Amino acid sequence: VIEVNNVVTRFGERLVHDGVSLHVNAGEIYGFLGPSGCGKSTLMREIILLEPIQSGTIRLFGEPLDTLSFDAAQTLRRRWGVLFQSNALFTSLNVAENIAVMLKEYTALPAALIDEIVAFKLDIVGLTPNEGKLYPSQLSGGMKKKVALARALALDPPLLFLDEPTSGLDPVSAREFDALIMRLRDMLQLTVVMVTHDLASIETTLDRMAIIDERRIAAEGTLSEVKEVPSPFIRTFFGGDVS
Ligand code: ATP
Ligand code: MG
Repeated sequence: VIEVNNVVTRFGERLVHDGVSLHVNAGEIYGFLGPSGCGKSTLMREIILLEPIQSGTIRLFGEPLDTLSFDAAQTLRRRWGVLFQSNALFTSLNVAENIAVMLKEYTALPAALIDEIVAFKLDIVGLTPNEGKLYPSQLSGGMKKKVALARALALDPPLLFLDEPTSGLDPVSAREFDALIMRLRDMLQLTVVMVTHDLASIETTLDRMAIIDERRIAAEGTLSEVKEVPSPFIRTFFGGDVS
């Protein structure tokens, strides 16, 4: 679904990625891991057309991003949902309206149908119809994540990007969110890319992962595969536990 080949990213003098390659298969929950500032969010932003790359290629659903026409890019944008670290909810809109925004902007569906879709999206992320009437300021961190997730899924995208979805959540909400992502992946047959630092998420939720270090991929694969990579960096990354 996603192929990243030899990507180089530079911000002025700062070289962030120097030949990053990885591939994400359909139906997997794939992690972007690595120390703060290694370029996890940047790589995600490059894949969703928010940041240019200096060289290399990125293909989404087989299509190379660098040669997309404007129309092709717009069509592609409807095929992924994004959960930014900040949630980016509209504070002046209630929960249901936040979810409906996408449907109003990108479809010509009648209001009654939009209401039905919103009700369904609330339900699949575990929010009640009454919670749909609350405003973002009235929500806990875990609920905000669920709203942002429901909004990301509004247009039924096959691909979902999550930037550190469990950071800032208490451990119970964080594990609940991970379980929700796994359930939705199965139910909606999603492919999921998750940027994360959360060791519990890494152990329980990711099928495969790429660990970025020193501008390159230090390891890619399942948890047991990446732990086998004989590197001091990987050992430190997993807190010395490489058994
Ligand atoms: P974190 O775990 O802290 O979120 P990250 O791995 O997501 O880190 P990025 O946010 O991708 O890291 O940033 C990678 C590097 O690129 C950092 O050094 C950052 O300062 C730099 N950077 C990111 N975006 C820009 C930009 N628009 N202009 C200049 N530098 C940038
Ligand atoms: Mg980041």
